Amino acid sequence: MNILVVEDELKTARHLDRGLRAAGFEVQTCASAEQGLLTCAAHRFDALVLDVMLPGMNGLALVHQLRSSGVATPVLFLSAKDATEDRIKGLNEGGDDYLVKPYSLPEVVARLRALLRRGGQTGNAQRVEVADLVWEPGSRRISRMGKHVDLTPKEYALASLLLNHLGEVVSRNQIIQAVWGLRTTVEGNSVDVQVLRLRKKLDDPFETKLIRTLRGVGIVLEAPDA
Ligand code: CA
Repeated sequence: MNILVVEDELKTARHLDRGLRAAGFEVQTCASAEQGLLTCAAHRFDALVLDVMLPGMNGLALVHQLRSSGVATPVLFLSAKDATEDRIKGLNEGGDDYLVKPYSLPEVVARLRALLRRGGQTGNAQRVEVADLVWEPGSRRISRMGKHVDLTPKEYALASLLLNHLGEVVSRNQIIQAVWGLRTTVEGNSVDVQVLRLRKKLDDPFETKLIRTLRGVGIVLEAPDA
């Protein structure tokens, strides 16, 4: 089982890393949400352990962004804040469980195991079909006519954004947030270039075209007869 820990306090991160490894997990750690996003785009994890208070983007914003780009990996939040409001906010943002500091390591392990059991039950059932396209978010796989479409992390982020908003127009801003992150400024035609790249792999080789551009509005992915 592969776990990503995002925690900016070095001592806590080391403590979690050691403890989770001792419990038999494989662990990767990041010190910021921005780093966490990049790591999630490049690797597949079975669960994420996220500190809420991080420098720059916080843990809640990180989960919000992951969820909107189609990453359904279970999330355990760790936080110094114990106000009920914050707990609710954490879960609303797409977190699956919440532990308040100070927590004990066995408790973290127990909660993670519970999350992984739950995730395992629903993970395989998730599957989205659009015409001849099949998306399996759990395994980050997209195929058309039974053929796997090999996408870069950015292309995958864009594709999953479109698939999460099936039949809805997605704006340039939504694309920038999902592909590059909230705090980035993006060069003039980067969005168009990214859309073009995705189209070249996901649409061009196939007869049925699924991605449409609405000039000045955004792009939409849908079956042609929808
Ligand atoms: Ca922190």
